[in-house]
Amino acid sequence: MPVAQLEGRRIHVSGTVQGVGFRPWVYRVAQQAGVTGRVRNDSSGVTIDAFGDETSLTHFLDALHWPPPAARIVRFDFTDIALEPADEFEIVDSQSDVDRRVSIPPDLATCDDCLSEIFDRANRRYRYAFTNCTNCGPRFTIATDIPYDRRATTMARFEMCPACRREYTDVSDRRFHTQPNACPACGPQLGLRAPDGARLHADDVIAVAARAIGDGLIVAVKGIGGFHLVCDATSEDAVRLLRERKRRDEKPFAVMVRAVHDAAALGFVGPDECRLLTSPERPIVLVRRRPGGRIAEEVAPRNQMIGLFLPYSPLHHLLLAEARRPLVMTSGNVSDEPIACDNADALRRLASIADLFVVHDRDIHMTCDDSVATMIAGSPTVLRRGRGYVPRPVPVSRGFSRPVLACGAQLKNTFCIGFDSSAWLGPHIGDLDNLPTFDHYTRSIELLERFLGVHPQVVAHDLHPDYLSTAYARRRTGAQTVAVQHHHAHVVSAMAEHGIDGPAIGIAYDGTGYGTDGTMWGGEVLVATAASFERAATFRTLPLAGGDRAIREPWRLALALVMDAFGGEIPLDLQPAFSAAPIADLVGVKALLTRAAWLPRARGVGRYFDAFGALFLGRTNASYEGQVALEWNQAADPRVTRVYRYDVAAGDQCCEIDLRPTVRDAATDRRRGEPVAAIAAAFHNTIAAATAEVVRAAVARFGALPVVASGGCFQNARLAESIQAALAPEHPVLFPREVPPGDGGIALGQAIVADVLARR
Ligand code: ZN
Ligand code: ZN
Ligand code: FE
Repeated sequence: MPVAQLEGRRIHVSGTVQGVGFRPWVYRVAQQAGVTGRVRNDSSGVTIDAFGDETSLTHFLDALHWPPPAARIVRFDFTDIALEPADEFEIVDSQSDVDRRVSIPPDLATCDDCLSEIFDRANRRYRYAFTNCTNCGPRFTIATDIPYDRRATTMARFEMCPACRREYTDVSDRRFHTQPNACPACGPQLGLRAPDGARLHADDVIAVAARAIGDGLIVAVKGIGGFHLVCDATSEDAVRLLRERKRRDEKPFAVMVRAVHDAAALGFVGPDECRLLTSPERPIVLVRRRPGGRIAEEVAPRNQMIGLFLPYSPLHHLLLAEARRPLVMTSGNVSDEPIACDNADALRRLASIADLFVVHDRDIHMTCDDSVATMIAGSPTVLRRGRGYVPRPVPVSRGFSRPVLACGAQLKNTFCIGFDSSAWLGPHIGDLDNLPTFDHYTRSIELLERFLGVHPQVVAHDLHPDYLSTAYARRRTGAQTVAVQHHHAHVVSAMAEHGIDGPAIGIAYDGTGYGTDGTMWGGEVLVATAASFERAATFRTLPLAGGDRAIREPWRLALALVMDAFGGEIPLDLQPAFSAAPIADLVGVKALLTRAAWLPRARGVGRYFDAFGALFLGRTNASYEGQVALEWNQAADPRVTRVYRYDVAAGDQCCEIDLRPTVRDAATDRRRGEPVAAIAAAFHNTIAAATAEVVRAAVARFGALPVVASGGCFQNARLAESIQAALAPEHPVLFPREVPPGDGGIALGQAIVADVLARR
């Protein structure tokens, strides 16, 4: 019988393959296939050296395509290597600093195996709220230092019992090298507190908490990345009470449901939404609300969408099973402050909101808010990047020539650290308009720098001089600071995610961003590279009467829109739209607008949404930024294909989209008694048509470049899809996916632009 020829293969696997049980799994697969060699982590993934005959190698390589659930393989690279006399297959520890600094994975939702254990009476982890394994559990939020092992996590003070230790050291066990491994005998424990901090005795903490929720109370629950405020999502009274105490007007609350079929009872959940809901990242998924779903109206007033998510920790699973109803689960904070993460802090800050506290003694070291995702133009899109995604790096094809910190924007801030060929976006921080949030911001930057072991030599910030992130950048010492224009950053961010080096045509539509000409930009079509941009098109400006007040009181924008379109007049039939505005303000604003020359001016597409929404929906005030724009978006009837007139004024360099004819057409429609849904739809179609026209003009001038779109307006699926349709099929539009389209995504673009500019 002929002896099979032995061969050697090196396989490099890139993607999320560290801290997710990948190496022990490779080990087991190698054992089964009868392959010898080794597996080790490296700076961009895992390298496997495999030796065996052709049949066993083929088996081995095939099996590698079915990795553990939390792993995410981006690419395999194969090379032939010389045969080595290896007797067995081994897991090699990582050695170099480069390998170790990228080894902290994101937090992972509870896996099915752990889930069945906590509901199995015979299992030693029955109802144990801190059950986890190599495929699931907290990671980033419990890490205190690098390299990632138990000593450098908040689990360090829990000594593993013999049974847990056995699992931890047995390579064939699901808990082999699971750093947060624990059980009821040796691990963290739940506790119950009154708002005054008093310890309350309970044999079953979860049962008591579930009963309190059922009685209409508000319970603060310590989770993975911070505290949640929890109440019965089916009770109008409970949700209203939470709104009052949290001082939150109408911003929608996220709702946690037990399983996908419960989500489908409340919203329209297709296969894509289902995949997002059940992904190991477990984001809050925005879906269209199902009429008649059993949920309090107060959860998302005047909103056709609802944010749903599934339990992602054993504690959530146990609580949902006990409560037997959908639960509002919102960040544990007062209005816009950062989410509370340690017990004492939560008791101090949330005492006036929660009636009861579920706490535990596993500390959260890195605060991480829930992520938000939705389907836009047929693909999953991350709108808020936090728990589950952070700190997974975004690959950047052009690479960074030195470590860069990008400080992000003012609102929905996220920062970014770039080095080598990756960009690490920090967790969603929020609006940098109060001191606690700013402290949270600086602390998060310091922590991520330490985890990554980098000292940024270049610090990027927005052009806006008054952003707190700009002030922070200027205060940093020992680094070169580079200012980056807001929309340039939006566009480069989208380009980077799609591996486009430039030039590209970038559609950047948002509410506000500091322009280079003293106006507030936000309706920009740029032709951009990482180093520079040219403005191909923009929108005609709207005067902002009252500055920022115009954003909270969009009737001011509506008035500006009408007076601009009708030569300073307000047609009689449009006057009722302003009847709810305070009469003194109305007179004052009208006077301001007649002498509008010195008012600040905005070009943001978001502001046009606000203005049209206020005018045709009769909404005077917004309780949060972008609320009226969102309602205007949701008002649109998808069946209407009509387009209003608009003008494009040619400029020397940059043309200007003029929506005054659109306003007049819409007003005529209204006079004729057309439904608001048709007017809103025609408005969307008009923006799409005008955008397509100026993009085509840019193609004629600059050549057939790739087209990307970014900015807060592209959280609006309808706008994204209409623009995509208007440019199809010649010019496919690429949207951000992993990185938020809104200001939470600009730090990536800032980092890339700053790196290129600093090289010069
Ligand atoms: Zn597990
Ligand atoms: Zn144990
Ligand atoms: Fe923006």
